[in-house]
Amino acid sequence: MSYQHQYVDGTRIHFPIGKVVCIGRNYAEHAKELDNPVPTEPLLFIKPGSCVVELEGGFAIPTERGSVHYEAEIAVLIGKPLSTKPSREEVLDAISGFAPALDLTLRDKQAELKAKGLPWEIAKSFDGAAVLAPFVVGSTFADLTDIGIRLTINGEVRQDGNSSAMLNPIVPMIQHMAGCFSLQAGDVILTGTPVGVGPLNVGDDIVLELVGASSFTSSVR
Ligand code: ZN
Repeated sequence: MSYQHQYVDGTRIHFPIGKVVCIGRNYAEHAKELDNPVPTEPLLFIKPGSCVVELEGGFAIPTERGSVHYEAEIAVLIGKPLSTKPSREEVLDAISGFAPALDLTLRDKQAELKAKGLPWEIAKSFDGAAVLAPFVVGSTFADLTDIGIRLTINGEVRQDGNSSAMLNPIVPMIQHMAGCFSLQAGDVILTGTPVGVGPLNVGDDIVLELVGASSFTSSVR
């Protein structure tokens, strides 16, 4: 079944899936674990809408293409157009929801591309490379600099981060992105991953949470 945005109560969100705008190395501890320098300006990349799949019910990974790494991230659903230099209020007004997500990466392929100074799309934009849970409404969090994201695999907590540790917090990040290219209703922002990334394996049981707000179980097929 093709992907459609929805809220946790099952309500369909009638925006088409747009692009997925991602930020790399937005948590210093994660940049360090992959031996990457902490960027001086936000490192952005885009996944096409075609790579988005639902978390619930299980998801497939392309193991035949090398190591597939998970990156648990806080996803933000954009519900109104944003461009040029939106104000803080305009950004807050444009946020329709939050969900936990997995930014999947062909890590061997990415390392090869990075070493050659080439773009990352082949490693980041394959079908199924953005795994999204249903959203909670935008007003769920009073403080966007205190949102917990946690990933548990086979009963073991692998990533347990908080937006308080982001180098570029959510609102300034979206302001910056909208200054680089227009954001539209249905676009999704992936806000970077905390420390603890690693490989996924077929058969893994997954629990992915926005701590205290939403929690989902799934498995890797
Ligand atoms: Zn990521």
